Amino acid sequence: MTVGLRIPAKLPAAAEAYALAGIKVFRVRRNKTPYANCARCDRQSSLYVKHRPEACQCGVPTCHGFWAATTDLNLVRRWWHEEPDANIGAPCKLNGWAVVDIDPRNGGRESLQALETRVGLLPSTTMQITGGDGLHIIYRSPGFELPGLGGPGIDFKHNGYILLAPSVHASGGRYQWAGAGTYLPPTADWPETLLPRKQRRAAPVPRAAPRHRFPPLEPHRGRPGGGRMWTVEDLVQHVMDTHEGSRNNAFYFAACRAHELAEQRLIDLGEAEAGLITAASAVGLSDTEARASFDSASTRPSDRGWAA
Ligand SMILES: [Zn+2]
Ligand SMILES: [Zn+2]
Repeated sequence: MTVGLRIPAKLPAAAEAYALAGIKVFRVRRNKTPYANCARCDRQSSLYVKHRPEACQCGVPTCHGFWAATTDLNLVRRWWHEEPDANIGAPCKLNGWAVVDIDPRNGGRESLQALETRVGLLPSTTMQITGGDGLHIIYRSPGFELPGLGGPGIDFKHNGYILLAPSVHASGGRYQWAGAGTYLPPTADWPETLLPRKQRRAAPVPRAAPRHRFPPLEPHRGRPGGGRMWTVEDLVQHVMDTHEGSRNNAFYFAACRAHELAEQRLIDLGEAEAGLITAASAVGLSDTEARASFDSASTRPSDRGWAA
């Protein structure tokens, strides 16, 4: 089983851990005020020299927001030594990530359900629960630009950055990695179904699935809203079908779904738990770990909201 990167609870140590793991990070102030650019990089300054951020030669390590992100351990240490409370930002594209960012305050959950009804369940991969009770689903970058919006409350983040655990959200909540609370590099490519049509490969949207995806399903009729729903068998199958490196994630993903569906009284939670624990053991996850992960899926504060 792949072991994730355990992230220290303190921001300075966590920033170092990411940098050591090769993840480019930069400081983000709690109120998000950017760090000032140097005079050569400041458009308002008479000394400004026109240049693109990625081609900057000024040598000042804080210029241009997320373009300053680095894996240089000395620099990272210095930054968080100066400001131990600074949040940890990570530019998506520069780290090879493309992120589905779901913000529940703006209808992101409903949009996600609508999106998945349309394109099929998104492949499971690394997930982060944001301090604002939202979700980051992190995929490998497709290597070209993406449309920014997936619907109300859903951003496709590629050019921008995200905050990383244990950063503190404006609401006071901390970001945390889903599952065992450790970071694992994303295991799935950006879903082809979310690509602009012209960038999809020749084949039409594959309903017959790559490995991480659910098998194609008949929609359940007679449900208000008409959305496709998953059964306990589907959730179990999802865990069984996922390849080794992503099983923890797949299990947690399925557990979250189980809690959501049970909350909406669409499945029986006990039945789902029994099925998933059995599946976990069949694919080599330890029983204790699986139970802990299943329970932690229920403590996710968003459970209540998803059903709304
Ligand atoms: Zn500069
Ligand atoms: Zn510059």
